[in-house]
Amino acid sequence: MQPKNVLPQDDADTGKNYVKRDLKALTHKELAALVEELGQPSFRVGQIESWVWEKGASSFDDMTNLPKTLRTALAERCTLGGVKQIACQKSQDGSRKYLLGFNDGTSVECVGMPSGPRLTVCASTQAGCGMKCAFCATGASGLTRSLTAGEIYDQVAHVRDDFGARVTGVVMMGQGEPFANYDATLAALRKLNSPNGMGIGARHLTVSTCGIIPMITRFSKEPEQFTLAVSLHSAVQRTRDMLMPGVKRYSLLRLYDAMGEYAERTGRRPTYEYALIRGVNDTEEELTYLCDFCRDTLCHVNLIQLNEVPGSKFQPASERRANEFVRRLGSVGVEATIRQSRGADIDAACGQLKQRLSM
Ligand code: SAH
Repeated sequence: MQPKNVLPQDDADTGKNYVKRDLKALTHKELAALVEELGQPSFRVGQIESWVWEKGASSFDDMTNLPKTLRTALAERCTLGGVKQIACQKSQDGSRKYLLGFNDGTSVECVGMPSGPRLTVCASTQAGCGMKCAFCATGASGLTRSLTAGEIYDQVAHVRDDFGARVTGVVMMGQGEPFANYDATLAALRKLNSPNGMGIGARHLTVSTCGIIPMITRFSKEPEQFTLAVSLHSAVQRTRDMLMPGVKRYSLLRLYDAMGEYAERTGRRPTYEYALIRGVNDTEEELTYLCDFCRDTLCHVNLIQLNEVPGSKFQPASERRANEFVRRLGSVGVEATIRQSRGADIDAACGQLKQRLSM
């Protein structure tokens, strides 16, 4: 049976009073409801989703297999989001840092990092960040707002198009705390993972959290094999409280238990990020506590030399200390590597992404 066509037939009926919704922020169910409301058969849902997520259509008029009336009706009710590149800086190591703007004037940074045949994108989940980590540039200006799933996805699509290459991995390690914006982050991950989106394998999609425990537990129950990284930075409570005041209420003891449950439930190895800061978390005492925290657990420690942030009193540790951390962790059976930050020459390295950049 042909469904009744209730689409507006002419311009006189183009209800201009709709409050437009971001189509990428609609769930599959919500989109299906909208398509039904417009009197269209349900196969249109898949067609629309394919245009939006796979083909990255920037206008409803591009959706050539939809009837014109449907395109018009969608355009009246929805926006396609989309990002505008405000600036792009290129690093000597091939990385590119972008400042991308959204419709409401909010902007975020994201980074594309090529490596041989691979292209990894570091995406933001919020504009700014509310966690106030003492050594991080993003936290200094506070949180502007959380991003929608579409806005997170669009950053990755933008980098893909700029490089003209397939994205092979995404790390949610740009601005913001992904687990303070859980639903949108998960929805974006699912679209990145989906064959109807970018088709990136779940294990190559990584979320980094400063350690919001209830969300770590929730994440461990998701069916996909997404990768988890936790910013640890110290296994000594008073040091961690000073460095990461935003997660003070989630004690290391609770974090330890939550991570144990995570490993047991998923069988996957989480990463701990540890930015080495001279005289703060690179001491013998800190190293001993770190070894105790990680020993006999399923984990990998990623040591990062602190990237210097203007106006900050913190400095990176010496290379000798970094190597000593790797050696000592290894001696208690904990895998540790020193990660080279990319894009440091353009302030695109970990912790250097700010709300606005001067480019
Ligand atoms: N809010 C999430 C996602 C940000 S990921 C989180 O905290 O995990 C960015 C990573 O860079 C985090 O591990 C963060 O702690 C780290 N970082 C922040 N400032 C840094 C700096 N100045 N040098 C090195 N790493 C830094």
